[in-house]
Amino acid sequence: MQIELKNLIRTYDTVHAVEGVSLSIPSNEIFGIIGLSGAGKSTLVRLISLLEKPDSGEVWYDGQRVDNLPEKEIIQRRRHLGMIFQNFNLFSSRTAGENIAYPMEICKYPKDQIQARVVELLEVVGLSDRINAPISTLSGGQKQRIAIARALACRPDILFCDEATSALDPKTTQQILALIKDIQKKMNLTVVMITHQMEVVRDACDHVAVLSEGKVVEQGTVKELFASPKTNVTKEFLAHLTSNMKSVREDGVVIWSDDPAHYVLRFLNDKVDTPVISDIIREFDVVFNISGAGIQKVGDTKMGTMVCDITGSKKAVSDALKAIRERGVTVEEVEV
Ligand code: ADP
Repeated sequence: MQIELKNLIRTYDTVHAVEGVSLSIPSNEIFGIIGLSGAGKSTLVRLISLLEKPDSGEVWYDGQRVDNLPEKEIIQRRRHLGMIFQNFNLFSSRTAGENIAYPMEICKYPKDQIQARVVELLEVVGLSDRINAPISTLSGGQKQRIAIARALACRPDILFCDEATSALDPKTTQQILALIKDIQKKMNLTVVMITHQMEVVRDACDHVAVLSEGKVVEQGTVKELFASPKTNVTKEFLAHLTSNMKSVREDGVVIWSDDPAHYVLRFLNDKVDTPVISDIIREFDVVFNISGAGIQKVGDTKMGTMVCDITGSKKAVSDALKAIRERGVTVEEVEV
């Protein structure tokens, strides 16, 4: 299902939640909408998913205008939209299987069909053995799997994921994203993924739009966005991602090589900005192989850390280390 948004506007009193959004969301792919809290993401999702009407503007599905349909038809349309949320929104009074059955009961599917579909969907989300499990006995990741199964029950054309992984740990997030990607392909779904996490966009989406203060400030393929971000909003999202990279240690050092590194050099304040390493290389016959480095602020002090190996003759290395220390840089020798 291809979605076209034309100049959508939604204002609450004086708050311009969505301010002139036009977007083409291609069919059969995962489209990310990223923005900070308050950017207007949830409002936009409510407009696209026909939960709310825009003040002005239009929503089109596959070439048909849908925002202005009569209420009855909107309800029919909404039956073919699946939604999952950050807090899962499952019924705690129902078992896992009964939660999945719920939308089919509302749509008055025959009982045996409901049962067969529940079994099928539990298999899709990898929880066949939990059909009778009370919701309270499931982990966050399992709850989201049940919510996904429920969202798919009535064979939707579009799946909306509103911060669907925000309450999950990084590993579970990856598993849920992998599941959504898999389902998207198998079921030819259009997935609209709302998030404030660039990791989610990077790992799951094909195209992305960046929303800021109710407006789309940037859009394109995820690769384009990562290769050449244009707006400050996007750059900040990407910077945040870099500081969350797996190879960044707790002290902020970015490790880019697994080569053996015998030394950790710590530079304080003014030393951070002086070319100590260049000086040492010029003075002594040694080679630096730098495998990681970073600068972090501790209070008002800038502290640089470098993880490296220093090679050369035994004497050259020991003279170089002495000279480094004399320049006020702390040297730690580490076991490799
Ligand atoms: P996001 O999902 O990106 O955090 P929202 O769409 O929830 O952003 O909110 C965008 C702006 O619209 C916010 O300033 C929010 O306070 C306001 N807003 C959203 N929904 C309502 C509402 N039902 N009534 C009043 N203000 C709202």
